[in-house]
Amino acid sequence: MQSAAANNPPSLPATHAASHFLRTIVQNDVQQASYAARRWGGQPGLATTHAAAPLDAQPVRMRFPPEPNGYLHIGHAKSICLNFGLARDFGGVCHLRFDDTNPEKESIEFERGIIDAVDWLGFNYGVNKNALYYASDYFDAMHACAVHLIEQGLAYVDEQTPDQMRINRGDFGKAGTDSPFRTRTVAQNLARFAQMRAGELADGAAVLRAKIDMGSPNINLRDPAIYRIRRAHHHRTGDAWCIYPMYTFAHPIEDALENITHSICTLEFEDQRAFYDWLLGHLSAGGLINAPPPRQYEFARLNLTYVVTSKRKLAQLVNDKHVHGWDDPRMPTLVGLRRRGYTPEALKLFCERIGVTKDYSWIDYSTLEGALRDTLDPTAARAMAVLNPVKLVITNFEAGAFEDCIAPVNPHDESQGKRRFQFGRELWIEADDFQITPEKGFFRLTPPANGALGPRVRLKYGFVVECTGFQQDATGKVTHVHATYFHDSKSGSATSGNYKVKGVIGWVAAHDALQAQVRLYDRLFNEEQPDAGGKDFLSALNANSLNTVQAYVEPSLASASAGEAFQFERLGYFVADRIDSTAGKLVFNRAVGLKDGWGK
Ligand code: ATP
Ligand code: MG
Repeated sequence: MQSAAANNPPSLPATHAASHFLRTIVQNDVQQASYAARRWGGQPGLATTHAAAPLDAQPVRMRFPPEPNGYLHIGHAKSICLNFGLARDFGGVCHLRFDDTNPEKESIEFERGIIDAVDWLGFNYGVNKNALYYASDYFDAMHACAVHLIEQGLAYVDEQTPDQMRINRGDFGKAGTDSPFRTRTVAQNLARFAQMRAGELADGAAVLRAKIDMGSPNINLRDPAIYRIRRAHHHRTGDAWCIYPMYTFAHPIEDALENITHSICTLEFEDQRAFYDWLLGHLSAGGLINAPPPRQYEFARLNLTYVVTSKRKLAQLVNDKHVHGWDDPRMPTLVGLRRRGYTPEALKLFCERIGVTKDYSWIDYSTLEGALRDTLDPTAARAMAVLNPVKLVITNFEAGAFEDCIAPVNPHDESQGKRRFQFGRELWIEADDFQITPEKGFFRLTPPANGALGPRVRLKYGFVVECTGFQQDATGKVTHVHATYFHDSKSGSATSGNYKVKGVIGWVAAHDALQAQVRLYDRLFNEEQPDAGGKDFLSALNANSLNTVQAYVEPSLASASAGEAFQFERLGYFVADRIDSTAGKLVFNRAVGLKDGWGK
């Protein structure tokens, strides 16, 4: 049979998209129209309450299935880019599906956060624009699947205690032992399951188990539990159910009901694939779901140095107030990274660079920072800022006089225009651009020594100056640096080339500069693998991960809009805080330094 997909080959992936084993698998399936024979138009045997059941054939249909029990993090970004990216590249769709089968920990707030994160990354979800999918919409269908398994003699109600069940499961070296309830008849099981459903049994008193093989070398096939009794209020289905499907049972059914073609998950689920195939094989043979069923593929999760990505641990950081919320700029959540100054482009570039493999590995945090730098450099407006100010007095510049200076907004992009600020007698410079006793190789400001003047230094976009002296307070702290300027050395002037200097420093004029709060963020953990080997990740917290300073910035930043990124020249990339920065009170977050400072 000629398939629709073969007649209308979808656009092949853009050539820049990096190839990887999953892309090859999807590409082959698209070319061979592996899923074209499916009977599209809902599911044969099961009614779902879902209004937007996917009715049209798609060459590929992926899904991204977060549990709404926390905010998404950088690891999820990898999964989102992979699933939505493959769907986009092969002309298919990707569902955003909430895997909400575990009511105690889930909430609308987290759902909202997940939708916002996918939106922000710039992906469309759903077959109809932005349809949403919910595991909880399929509770009836899942229940029907369970009843079908019982009817086929493939599931039974087990009433062993949890302890007995654990002991009888065996372990890697030891086969399991059949439960005494395993030989119940179909009729007995149907009746008992109906009682579970009707709320006649206490929480935990019984579970429904698939009947597979207690001797299987794969422990996941030793009669896994598929339904448990739990009187928990669900944020979408309320109190309609007192039994809930187990994740490993629910997930394959969700995929099948949505006609997913490629169900991509992380490697921890590799051993579950046998159950995934067992379950969908039986449901498909029974005519309850479309054939061929979806297939599961695994890839290695993202591990990033100096970062934890377990939602449970991230929640702990928030709840125990080690950070200021899920969107704290030190958090690896997408809301945190966004506030830190990360952009969708940077995260997508990062995901492209790390690739997709089956190898367990740790990605160096500098890879993430490199992607941010590389995306901001061509676009971010430049600005001068002084984070740790000391006064520089130009003793031969007239008090009350000012000189206009001009600088490019972005030296890589002339179309962004020019910025203007003033030079005057009193300037702010970085305290560490002056050394009383210069260390070797220091070419910035130093006082005259042994009758010789210190090196000449250019004040960027301004004049060349020479240090003539300094003042200290009683504690020895330098309060003022004195210098004279050369009036014909101004940057851009015909005579500026006569001045050869080894040092260039930043500055802002005291009369001209704006005050700003600047939050200097550092890594949240001191150790590369904060939670390796089950150790207490809180013991690796960096006590100095946030240092807030009062800075002076150039006047062009008065119009900085919330979330706008800048390169503070010689200092790094900074973003106007999305929440706290206003025209009247500027607040900048350091997103990333100019050079890789990690591991130093
Ligand atoms: P946690 O174990 O911290 O709760 P999770 O993996 O259970 O995280 P889910 O909400 O179930 O979180 O994840 C949704 C999807 O994101 C899953 O398909 C999962 O494989 C993927 N994912 C989660 N963490 C990572 C990661 N670090 N790297 C790549 N993909 C990830
Ligand atoms: Mg999970």
